[in-house]
Amino acid sequence: MDQGFRITDVHIHVQPWREAKPLVVEAMRRGKESEWDLLSQITDDPRALLDIMDRAGVWRAGLVHYPDPDVMGFSAASGTFAARYAQMNPERLLPYGGVHPRITRDPAGDVDRLMDLGIRALKIHPPHQMFPANAYTAGLDALGAIYRRCEKRGLPVMVHTGTSIFPGARSKYGNPMELDDVAIDFPDLTILLAHGGRPLYMEEAFFVLRRHKNMWLDVSGIPPGRLLHYFPRLTEVADRVLWGTDWPGPGVRDMKQNIDQFLTLPLSDVDRKAILETNALVVFPAR
Ligand SMILES: [Zn+2]
Repeated sequence: MDQGFRITDVHIHVQPWREAKPLVVEAMRRGKESEWDLLSQITDDPRALLDIMDRAGVWRAGLVHYPDPDVMGFSAASGTFAARYAQMNPERLLPYGGVHPRITRDPAGDVDRLMDLGIRALKIHPPHQMFPANAYTAGLDALGAIYRRCEKRGLPVMVHTGTSIFPGARSKYGNPMELDDVAIDFPDLTILLAHGGRPLYMEEAFFVLRRHKNMWLDVSGIPPGRLLHYFPRLTEVADRVLWGTDWPGPGVRDMKQNIDQFLTLPLSDVDRKAILETNALVVFPAR
């Protein structure tokens, strides 16, 4: 890898865009019209993605996908999409999947089935799936069952925090403080806090991150050049920060550009290596 690191980008999106709602596709295409054919091709062909990763100097990528019928248009049945996709190269492609707690009839069994397919993390998206991340404390029992199963089986859970700009998203559910409950009630659960509460809830994100040692910060979606502005004390938690970009989400042009911007930050080589390379190997051991 030309940056000298074996980089894992824990947060990119490979999703069945043809299932997405027209307004979502419009939001995704904006600014990427010229690349849209390629992005569509990637949906069908993991080799196209691996080529892009090679060019960007990215060794492994976490493929975010989860059922999202209300906002994005991804059906509950599509929860296994990333798992099947990643079977082409399980060393470099880390698939995430989801179980929708408002739809599932067998939360623990659905988690098990995803794991049988090779899933490396479970994704929960409160602003899109329409519940707070601690909704099991107020009656959404399936959500508690999902966390419990993931805790028992050692499957990390990635939770979206912060706002979402997609039509219909309810950003009030993006507050990371709700994960305080989850970390207390499921003390052995590995929680990946996606986007660090960007841009409204970053103090809350830093608080829960420091308070709970099983919580990791996924910096995707935060402009890398602004990372230390948003998290001035980032180095205090550098051993639990995971590199991620949210590519090809709105505003993220390419994986390499984000890496280059990150490398201009005044961080030590030790912290850079932890964030780009070694922390991710703790959460997602090499296979
Ligand atoms: Zn994302």
